[in-house]
Amino acid sequence: MSKKVFLQTFGCQMNVRDSEVICGLLEKAGYKITEDEDKAEIAIFNTCSVRQHAEEKVWSAVGRSKAKIIGVIGCMANNYREAIFEKAPKVDFVVGTADIAKIPAIIAEIKKHKGSLLEKKIYETDANFREDEIYHTGFHLDRTHAFVVISEGCENYCSYCVVPYVRGKLRFRSSTDILDEIREDIEAGIEKITLLGQNVNAYKSDGVNFVKLVKLVNPLQGLKEFSFITSHPKDTSKELFQAMADLEKLKKCLHLPIQSGSDRILKLMNRNYTRKSYIDLVEDYRRIVSNGELSTDIIVGFPTESEQDFQDTYDLVKEVEFNSAYIFKYSPRPHTEAAKMADTVPKEEKEKRHKLILDLQKKISHQKKCQKRK
Ligand code: SF4
Repeated sequence: MSKKVFLQTFGCQMNVRDSEVICGLLEKAGYKITEDEDKAEIAIFNTCSVRQHAEEKVWSAVGRSKAKIIGVIGCMANNYREAIFEKAPKVDFVVGTADIAKIPAIIAEIKKHKGSLLEKKIYETDANFREDEIYHTGFHLDRTHAFVVISEGCENYCSYCVVPYVRGKLRFRSSTDILDEIREDIEAGIEKITLLGQNVNAYKSDGVNFVKLVKLVNPLQGLKEFSFITSHPKDTSKELFQAMADLEKLKKCLHLPIQSGSDRILKLMNRNYTRKSYIDLVEDYRRIVSNGELSTDIIVGFPTESEQDFQDTYDLVKEVEFNSAYIFKYSPRPHTEAAKMADTVPKEEKEKRHKLILDLQKKISHQKKCQKRK
């Protein structure tokens, strides 16, 4: 059996970085990464569980695969574990987000017995953390830009979000290890870095908080530019904005998910901020970081969202004028608190609200682009 591996990534930047880590580990174990699915005898699907639609794309990709050995990894592995073998019997291994270091050994074990009476399926989803070594394989899909994970998991338990149940408890990498990885990347020709975490602002390790971390990254020789994603309004501070204004290599871009403009819905989402505190934060940001760009995430159609709740979100988008926004229709996710609530907003109404905000944001983004060009 050839050692060619096809790895398809679904979902967020965290999954993109995880796939790079896995490719690096597989290359070290003598495998060859190919982008041509038909040439590979081993296919790995790095999956996303954030919305129903994302999962459906995975099931059809697995269904189409002709590979001899098939693996499902990432958030769906933690969400469904060995049940994946029942839903897709052709799958040979299932590996969770914290177990990815085990993938080369698992493939070797499956290859050993494939097609024999001892043929077996393997699933590993119980690890709680990752060894830092996995971040030092030096494999990057982009020659000039690299994602650098600073924290894994999340414990904010926003009521609609599956991440805490599939990526586990919040844990931070040491600032020393993060800086070492960035130096290695720069030596390898990387010029731009994005610091990555579900909520980077909560970062703290050995007395180093997030503001201190960005101040340690900025002076690194050879680094041209860096940024960070994702922020949470409850942990975002004026101190961070001052660092964004002062540090010449730190991009003046902030992604700050608001999710809803209604305080009643924000409470049901367990977001721990209010419409007013969010707008106050935006005003501080714009006062301190001149020409700072601002983007956000919005969910429409959350359980019990009334016309008025939706209007509150619509009016907030109009008032804040984001440079860009990702707008999602609510879909219930397994294990989450919101999944216990009745999904009261009809599909058509979700689509109508989604289109209304999308059209509004398109107009605003266009106006902002025109203003910038002047
Ligand atoms: S902060 Fe909330 S939305 Fe973001 S990953 Fe954590 S639980 Fe999910």
